[in-house]
Amino acid sequence: MLNGCTKDLFGVETRSFTGSRRGSNGSFTGFGPDSISNGGNNSQIDVVNEVNAFTSSRLKSIYNQGLPVNQQLGPGVILDGYTGPTGSGYTPYRNFTASNLRNAAYILQVQVHELGHSLDEIVFGTGVNSGFDRQSNNYELAGQKLVDCVRNRGGFK
Ligand SMILES: [Zn+2]
Repeated sequence: MLNGCTKDLFGVETRSFTGSRRGSNGSFTGFGPDSISNGGNNSQIDVVNEVNAFTSSRLKSIYNQGLPVNQQLGPGVILDGYTGPTGSGYTPYRNFTASNLRNAAYILQVQVHELGHSLDEIVFGTGVNSGFDRQSNNYELAGQKLVDCVRNRGGFK
């Protein structure tokens, strides 16, 4: 089901997928257009989901760092996954699931959500009008679309 979804949404064929588990990183290998590393030509795309690096509260402080106060996530918001810059730089080929999560199906769902954000940028590039996230100015859209697609086709039971 993931293959059909990455193909339909991003034009990327899923070649292998290792689900993240508590304490154990997940990974995705696909084949499709890569605008970041290969000028939009088809190539192998590897995305790692790290599960040991940051807790939810640490992810939130990383997210908020440098943002104007009115754009920061407030005290009531919990961030369980993240695709974006950290202290060690930024690459869309690596994203994060919070290390404190315990529910196996939810950990998988967060991994797939973040994979959506990564593929959105890898496939469509970083331009302001490219990709589901930037085009819609809804920075949750790509992650939501991939999760909804997988769920609609029977995933995350
Ligand atoms: Zn998101």
